[in-house]
Amino acid sequence: MRIVLLGAPGVGKGTIASLLSKKYGLPHISTGDIFKGAIRKGDELGLRVKSIVESGNLVPDELVNQVVRKRLLQEDASKGFFLDGYPRTVEQANAMDKFSKPDAILNLNADRKTIIKRLSGRRVCTGCGAIYHIRYSQPKKEGICDSCKGKLIKRKDDDESVIANRLDVYENQTKPLIEFYNKRKSYFEIDSNYEMEDIDRITKQCEDALSKVK
Ligand code: AMP
Repeated sequence: MRIVLLGAPGVGKGTIASLLSKKYGLPHISTGDIFKGAIRKGDELGLRVKSIVESGNLVPDELVNQVVRKRLLQEDASKGFFLDGYPRTVEQANAMDKFSKPDAILNLNADRKTIIKRLSGRRVCTGCGAIYHIRYSQPKKEGICDSCKGKLIKRKDDDESVIANRLDVYENQTKPLIEFYNKRKSYFEIDSNYEMEDIDRITKQCEDALSKVK
């Protein structure tokens, strides 16, 4: 099952994709994580995308398409995947239809206030990249990662001014994607205006949608 998760940054795509990935035994592939991992490592890809990602803009389509295509060819994705953060533009969606057409598209929706509240409280480990939240997912010791003891920081692109830019970028460049997909039978709207404590209500909608595709 090849599943695409759509939705603005902070809507909960990552959390939902990771829960669904465990439940269905398919990998959770996040383009944001691929880029951030490369930036942490300081490898060639990381150096190419660092300033773009840190300013909240989009990495060029051609490069993202290349990275995703290569990732989907790996053995763990042969039976399907939950793709989070890709496609983000109509050009990317067109490219994906050619190399790995999705079986379902889940579009997660939440209002701007909910999103800003979620993102501005997010903290990330400088060591392993694990994600915490000052309200919903606190580490055992404040500011320290539970698993690798690395320092937790607020990501540059989770600053409120950058969040506003990321949401604007999303509105302008990604919304046409919904028009691209919404006539398909495999397209589903998921209401994500819940507190993270009520995450089951979001995953249940996704599972119901997935039960309708092959
Ligand atoms: P995310 O964690 O999904 O918000 O991604 C973090 C950043 O990675 C984004 O703000 C973009 O700079 C970049 N990025 C991730 N996925 C894509 C994509 N499909 N197209 C372009 N840029 C992307």
